[in-house]
Amino acid sequence: APAPGNALLRNLNPEQLAAVTLPNRHALILAGAGSGKTRVLTTRIAWLIQTGQISPAGVMAVTFTNKAAKEMLTRLATILPIPVRGMWIGTFHGLCNRFLRAHWKLAALPQSFQILDSQDQLSAVRRVIKAMNLDEERFVPKQVTWFIAGSKEEGLRPRDVTVRDEQTRTLVDIYQAYEDQCQREGVVDFAELMLRTYELMRDQPALREHYQRRFGHLLVDEFQDTNRLQYAWLKMFAGQSNCVFAVGDDDQSIYAFRGAQVGNMSDFEREFHVEHVIKLERNYRSYGNILDSANELIAHNRKRLGKNLRTEAGPGEPVRVYEATSDYAEAQWLLEEAQQLHREGTPRSEIAILYRSNAQSRVLESALFNAGIPYRVYGGLRFFERAEIKHALAYLRLLENPNDDTSYLRVVNFPTRGIGARTIEQLQDAARASGRSLYQSTGAVTGKGGANLAAFNALLDAMRDATRGLTLREIIEHVLEASALTDFYRNEKEGRERLENLDELVNAAEAFVTQEGFGKDAVALPIDEQAGAIAEGDPPAVARADITPDVETGEIVSPLAAFLTHAALEAGDNQAQAGQDAIQMMTVHAAKGLEFDCVFITGLEEGLCPHENSLSDYEGLEEERRLMYVAITRARKRLYLSHSQTRMLHGQTRYNIKSRFFDELPEGALKWITPKVQGFGSGFARDPRAAWAQAPSHGSSFGTAKKIEPKVATSDGVALRVGQSVFHTKFGEGVIVTLEGSGADARAQINFGRHGLKWLALSVAKLTPVD
Ligand code: ATP
Ligand code: MG
Repeated sequence: APAPGNALLRNLNPEQLAAVTLPNRHALILAGAGSGKTRVLTTRIAWLIQTGQISPAGVMAVTFTNKAAKEMLTRLATILPIPVRGMWIGTFHGLCNRFLRAHWKLAALPQSFQILDSQDQLSAVRRVIKAMNLDEERFVPKQVTWFIAGSKEEGLRPRDVTVRDEQTRTLVDIYQAYEDQCQREGVVDFAELMLRTYELMRDQPALREHYQRRFGHLLVDEFQDTNRLQYAWLKMFAGQSNCVFAVGDDDQSIYAFRGAQVGNMSDFEREFHVEHVIKLERNYRSYGNILDSANELIAHNRKRLGKNLRTEAGPGEPVRVYEATSDYAEAQWLLEEAQQLHREGTPRSEIAILYRSNAQSRVLESALFNAGIPYRVYGGLRFFERAEIKHALAYLRLLENPNDDTSYLRVVNFPTRGIGARTIEQLQDAARASGRSLYQSTGAVTGKGGANLAAFNALLDAMRDATRGLTLREIIEHVLEASALTDFYRNEKEGRERLENLDELVNAAEAFVTQEGFGKDAVALPIDEQAGAIAEGDPPAVARADITPDVETGEIVSPLAAFLTHAALEAGDNQAQAGQDAIQMMTVHAAKGLEFDCVFITGLEEGLCPHENSLSDYEGLEEERRLMYVAITRARKRLYLSHSQTRMLHGQTRYNIKSRFFDELPEGALKWITPKVQGFGSGFARDPRAAWAQAPSHGSSFGTAKKIEPKVATSDGVALRVGQSVFHTKFGEGVIVTLEGSGADARAQINFGRHGLKWLALSVAKLTPVD
């Protein structure tokens, strides 16, 4: 029994205290967000150790992210006067890695085995498919990797898979060949880490007994997101006599798409004969308005185990809702708000920016970067560090300088062009011998490899010729196509996000050109008499010249060279230094279990959140809602929700409706911030579009057709309205997005599809309504 006045237990409520000090039997703590599950789990570890029931080496605790594991260790270190670094606390993958490093011989692995990330895994599978002379159309590499990972997560080796048809037979053959290849090369993928550990425990009695004796207590956080293999793995370590302490929240199950099974909770209760199921109902994290929002939202889900959450903190501040006119405006507003919070005393590390998918981070990163605010991106690479972006940049660098060997090596065989390791070795030898670049040394390689290298050089030369005189946007688009990068990702089941990122690269380039004022002279010429196009906000006109003098120095520098420098800088420097106070950026998935004083949830638009891929089925929508629930419940003091009317995504401007989830929040807890004048402010001060963006905005919810839009009359007396289709003699058909000004000053922003968004002076432009 706990000593009265035990400092460790003093700050627990009765249910938490009961959970922490449960007798040594299996237990399930089922409770909502912020109710102290993780705190209970951590405190239980400390209590077990402090009361001498177990030594630090006898505890194994599994968390969901490395960040969460680190926080748990830090907390333990402050509670206990013991070194915690050697404790077995980490993610499933982290613990398996540790296990296999210790038992590499038994596991039949080389001592320094390497771990394949998902990208490496894909190229490994691709090599296998190629070596087996199979058709990538029929055996799509990404689908094959999912088949392999799926099989492993079911605990199935190739010989265990039930074969019902020819297709499966071949898939199993690929799986086998892939395993052989990994074994030969001494590499393991993520699922292999888990499965190999599981099998070793299952098949090696001595090892199993050792670990079952060692870990008397197994504690698992975020139990709702475990998959079948992780569950089986856990059972293996638990054996007959060890205690499993699982905590979870069915409302926060957000990994069903990866095979997580909420059903593991009820299986656990049944199979382990769990005697103690404890519910925690008091939320300690958030103020009332935040919690009410979370509760009311999640009540819209039908499939729930059912829990209540209340808080004794007051209502706190209202949840602020912001509607921006564009993703840039959203980023700019967010940046100013975050700066204000910081000035008022909130550390940057207590400000989190959350988004649904990684591609959304680019605009936000860019705003923070331009304003010189330190930030850190978790659970996902920063935009310019992502593999597909690095590949694209490598091609672009080679346009500027074919002798850039690093870039050359990166893409000479990506996508694959039959240039193998041997050929590359020969090429490197030749280059070294002659002191020339790889590009210059291809002639020294003979045979088929040499021919393929020559073809690659010819491809680079052709790209350079074809892109001469094009705008930066056109250059990048051409290179993405000609290099076959786009095709490569298009053919992947999971390539979508990468394609989105490549589109984002085009957007980034365009924003860069506009921001940096390339072709400032074009800005000085406001109206193109012929077409009526205003140069501002019309990137093709701005970037028309290939070579433009730098506005500051007069130096002649191509937009491409300037952009590449910018990309290199942005990739390298601005990631906050370790220990530096930085704004925290991450996807909602990566934010699970974490908490911050102030949270911004951005891009709350139909199609993004809920994500368009999940809209087709009810289950998908419920998972999206749980995701939103996770996001909201990260905030302690202040929560911001934002959405934008327009957003550059997938390479085009989208007109978005605000998320349906807004309708599921309690109106009384929300405060709609009236859009301020939407300037681009400091970060975008040089954006020539700023002048237009600062004009009062109209059509505040374009896309919701019911709204009455302002009309503007042209010089011909034709009344135009937002949403109307019009025809222009040069740009063809387009849709009016914004109308501003009146009389001779009237102007319209029109989306001309292929020609992009343009501002037109209505007194000059000839527009004919088409509907
Ligand atoms: P999630 O579901 O988001 O993972 P959780 O249930 O794990 O949340 P914790 O992170 O453990 O919740 O706790 C939420 C916050 O409430 C933490 O800051 C924690 O320190 C605090 N807290 C928990 N219990 C108490 C308590 N009894 N007294 C004071 N603060 C508490
Ligand atoms: Mg937690």
